[in-house]
Amino acid sequence: MRKPKFQCPTGMHDILPEEQKYYKKIYDIVSDIADFYGFGKIDTPILEETELFSKGVGLATDIVKKQMYSLKTKGGDFLSLRPEWTAPVVRAYIENGMQNLPQPLKLWYFGPCYRYERPQANRYRQFWQFGFEVLGEKSPVIDAQIIQIFYNILRELKLKNLIVEVNSIGDSNCRPYYKKLLANYFRTREASLCVDCKKRLRENVLRILDCKGEKCQPIKAEAPQILDHLCEECHLHFKEVLEFLDEIEIPYNLNPYLVRGLDYYTKTVFEIFSGSSEKKESSRIALAGGGRYDKLVKLLGGKETSACGAAIGIERIINLMKSQQIKQGDKETETQIFLAQLGGLSKRKSLKLLEDFRKAKIRVAESFGRDSLKAQLSRADKIGARYALILGQKESLEEMIIIRNMKSGKQEIVKLNRVVAEMRKKLKK
Ligand SMILES: [Zn+2]
Ligand SMILES: [Zn+2]
Repeated sequence: MRKPKFQCPTGMHDILPEEQKYYKKIYDIVSDIADFYGFGKIDTPILEETELFSKGVGLATDIVKKQMYSLKTKGGDFLSLRPEWTAPVVRAYIENGMQNLPQPLKLWYFGPCYRYERPQANRYRQFWQFGFEVLGEKSPVIDAQIIQIFYNILRELKLKNLIVEVNSIGDSNCRPYYKKLLANYFRTREASLCVDCKKRLRENVLRILDCKGEKCQPIKAEAPQILDHLCEECHLHFKEVLEFLDEIEIPYNLNPYLVRGLDYYTKTVFEIFSGSSEKKESSRIALAGGGRYDKLVKLLGGKETSACGAAIGIERIINLMKSQQIKQGDKETETQIFLAQLGGLSKRKSLKLLEDFRKAKIRVAESFGRDSLKAQLSRADKIGARYALILGQKESLEEMIIIRNMKSGKQEIVKLNRVVAEMRKKLKK
């Protein structure tokens, strides 16, 4: 087949009608949970000032160094497509004076992000994310609640083998010392590190702990661990997070190598994976990630404000739902009734009847563009409708309608103004 002249940009994808039900399912679950826990939804522009991300995500991160879609506007502004949501949400929090509202402020979001990455399975350059942020609360109970929310969402999506991993990466009080300790340790072993980690040694030594390369594993295993070097406050905070997790019965593992890719995290960091029961790293897929970021609001120009949040990549979840063969709401969205009509008067009455069904929240398919009954019934067959309602010229005049059972072919005739109630009864069976 010849390639069409125009194609989707590399690494991006269309979301076709049959795919939409996954997004809807996720959206419905997420917004229900957001309501329950008192989160308000926020939308921010897809474009933000580039500096928001170089400051808020970090100049040394891959995201800012290599993955941003940036542009200069005709007016000379430097803007970037958002590569993540936390910095824009914090920007909006400060700009809209939300710091003056009763705290904590709980926000959630759902929308696309952009990163110029090497296209590969499960990774898109335009991908959808949803996330939850709590601003203005330093209690560790929030860290646990965020973990609980994401765990519950993934559970409600019926994803299997969920693994929660947590760590603390300290704060400006204790992390600098630990980083020094870590840098000293890796410097004496620099020759054995992979190429990337040699770079990380100079730029962001914590990221070496994140390295998945074979070569670095034995060196990592012997490295000093942050949990042994937390200051009193961070230690206590982390201990309480774990106690809350025990209390709400969320199973978790401590992972001393979990540091997360972004610079702005403090104290608690966590990820939720889906994995097979065997402990192979490679068979695990990271689904959700987040943590506490007590420094970000101030860094972006606001008052000192504690905060905690997390996000999930939606395409990854959808792929997992497909591979775990989780069917999405086919039953509810299946259309079981088809409305067929013959002749001008019937067509007009059908339009009105369709409205009655819509108000009753009963889905009805139609094909008003077709005039032949045969064509309409074959359409009803194709979509798998259980019943066809047939409104012919004679029935229209008599204010009656035929209900045809598509499987048995049995027909009955009822009053037009009774058909909605009648069909509701039939569908319940
Ligand atoms: Zn490495
Ligand atoms: Zn500390």
